[in-house]
Amino acid sequence: MNYYAAIEAGGTKFNCALISQDKQIIKQTRIPTTIPEQTLDRVIEFFKELQKQYTISSLGLACFGPINLDSSSIQYGNITTTPKPGWADFPISRQLAKQLNLPVFFDSDVNGAILGEYLWGAAKHSKVAVYVTIGTGFGGGIIANGQILHGLHHPEMGHMLIPTTIEQGHCPFHGSCIEGLASGTSMAKIWQEPAEKLIDRHPAWQLQSEHIARFCYNLLVTLAPEKIILGGGVMQNPALLNMTIENVQKIMAGYLTLGKSMNEIIVEPGLAQLSGLFGALALAQGKGSHSIC
Ligand code: ZN
Repeated sequence: MNYYAAIEAGGTKFNCALISQDKQIIKQTRIPTTIPEQTLDRVIEFFKELQKQYTISSLGLACFGPINLDSSSIQYGNITTTPKPGWADFPISRQLAKQLNLPVFFDSDVNGAILGEYLWGAAKHSKVAVYVTIGTGFGGGIIANGQILHGLHHPEMGHMLIPTTIEQGHCPFHGSCIEGLASGTSMAKIWQEPAEKLIDRHPAWQLQSEHIARFCYNLLVTLAPEKIILGGGVMQNPALLNMTIENVQKIMAGYLTLGKSMNEIIVEPGLAQLSGLFGALALAQGKGSHSIC
């Protein structure tokens, strides 16, 4: 039996697990994302303890970003321009590889999540699919013909500009990009209340569904995905998915015949809360692209 270390590294917590090749989670822990040294010390301690008992083959890291995936760059494997204090330019992949003496396969958190969903979840058999997380941040990963999509960079679709009636969004770089309007962090700033505390009939949700719908519509006409999977903490509001689908249909206005209903295309994750962690497992197994330290 092979064992893999999997890390879904998020802006709020690091979800770490030892997973067997048959996808059994042997041990799992969640470590708060504080400053890099403190967080990494705890992550390393968790896996070093497990290495006493298990032979771990490799580590998969699905990491919040932006992360540098250009193997010719001296910043390869680093988190790059995050506004998160202490994490900008942090060499996370190299640190983990060195301290744990393991090959580290890495990609962005959402690229990991779409890979997990493609192999084992809602995007199985899709030629093109997108995983979107709407939580602390807002981001998405794309799979096309079995490959995670990378070009100059990994996609940064959370920074897509969309029309809005809000005067000023909260992205420190662009103001009213979709992350600046619709991430959990931005919602809390706009409405002066955390998203999970906003009651169902609060006007925030209607506006939220309109913003996400414009974003999904842009994906539909750009990438023609068979699936757009909407995950993350903000999507835990059970009414939001259907409100978003209704708004996408309104914007589409019958323009495209897709051969599928919108609620077959825009869906919740098939792996529930485990898309990112299983994505990290898939990366560790070399099923992603070949970004390795
Ligand atoms: Zn932005």
